[in-house]
Amino acid sequence: MAKWEYTDKPMHSEHRRADTRYLDKDMATQCLHAGERWEKQYFWTSSTPIYNSTTFFYDSVQDLDDRVYYRKPGYVYSRGGCPTNTALERALSTLEGAEVTHVCSSGMAASHLALLTAGAGKDELILCCSDVYGSVYTMVENIFPHLGARSILMDFADLNKLEDVIKRERPRVVYFEAVTNPMTKVIHAPAVIEIAHRYRAAVIVDNTFTTPYLLKPIDIGADFVSHSVTKFLSGHGDVLAGSVSCYRKDFDKLHDMLIHVGCTLGPNEAWLALRGLKTFPLRMERHCANALAVAQFLESHPLIAHTRYPGLPSHPQHETATSIFPKGRYGAILNFDIVDCDKDKAFRFLEALKLILPATTLGDIYSEIVNPARTTHHQLSEEELAVMGINAGTFRMSVGIEDVEDLKEDLEQALKACQ
Ligand code: PLP
Repeated sequence: MAKWEYTDKPMHSEHRRADTRYLDKDMATQCLHAGERWEKQYFWTSSTPIYNSTTFFYDSVQDLDDRVYYRKPGYVYSRGGCPTNTALERALSTLEGAEVTHVCSSGMAASHLALLTAGAGKDELILCCSDVYGSVYTMVENIFPHLGARSILMDFADLNKLEDVIKRERPRVVYFEAVTNPMTKVIHAPAVIEIAHRYRAAVIVDNTFTTPYLLKPIDIGADFVSHSVTKFLSGHGDVLAGSVSCYRKDFDKLHDMLIHVGCTLGPNEAWLALRGLKTFPLRMERHCANALAVAQFLESHPLIAHTRYPGLPSHPQHETATSIFPKGRYGAILNFDIVDCDKDKAFRFLEALKLILPATTLGDIYSEIVNPARTTHHQLSEEELAVMGINAGTFRMSVGIEDVEDLKEDLEQALKACQ
């Protein structure tokens, strides 16, 4: 029997739990303080130090033994965690309203761990939204089937169709992003979770685009929340990291998966992510305000064929977004098509940008524009791209925190230059 099916490991999750000192505080306060100053040395430090030690030992061998057998919270070998990672884990549990969080080495590692922990494996079905990050699509379509799992990728927009498939196929795991990448489709997360649970499927929500600033999937019933912490949570484009938050009951398995897959986050990266997190709500406020202004600018621009941003009344799921995202904020990601744009024109547009980075990531303080067909989704076939609505002239913009007039000016000059 797999080790995680026993529940004899009460203590290893303790220091990954939400920080009770800040649970009733505003997100701004949580981001500054949660997880910090947790374990007292003979002094306090304002920020948690970087524990670059691969191993931990104690005055008595009994103390070490208690950690090896999870009778006491603590550390043994840093592949299983260290105090710097713990500070980040506590902060993320607090922010997501989750019982427990494990950080890991990337967002892809997080999606992989969440799927394994939720039960994706031999003869089990993964039902995944087809509009997901390209590597997640590939992992679900190609990698898990090699392990004996089955997978179905489909549009989650039509809830009746979704229920029909769930009822018929009985997936073990349902996986989706609340706002899709790159098309910014808003999935009705509460409804999808409710349907999946009716048929006993575990639900993973990738909250990278929405972040806890817009949505807390655990509050609406999700079993697992995964993040590319690389993006908005850390925010500065200087660290790769991921996280999986879940209930205590699933943590033993998650912890074992992390240790045996070995995709641990390094303490230097954990510290950078934790430092980035301090300003998360401040950044998000500005990201969202800028994104709305840029979307309005693009929507009225004669050289733009379509602009997709959930905050625009013209967005097909604007009402759903308004009902799901309580702050009246719609995130920082938008998507647009340049009129009559082939690959060459797309390249000219990207090369003409002077301020906005033509870079393949998102969620940084810097604005970034990417051409998904040639980058993030290049592994998909023409047909798969067409089904998603991606063409050669489709661009995804992650709107940063620059002055918004400077952003509009840069877009204007690049749109003219590429004609
Ligand atoms: N999930 C989403 C929605 C993403 O956009 C990405 C990367 O862009 C990932 C997961 C993977 O994250 P990482 O690049 O940190 O592995």
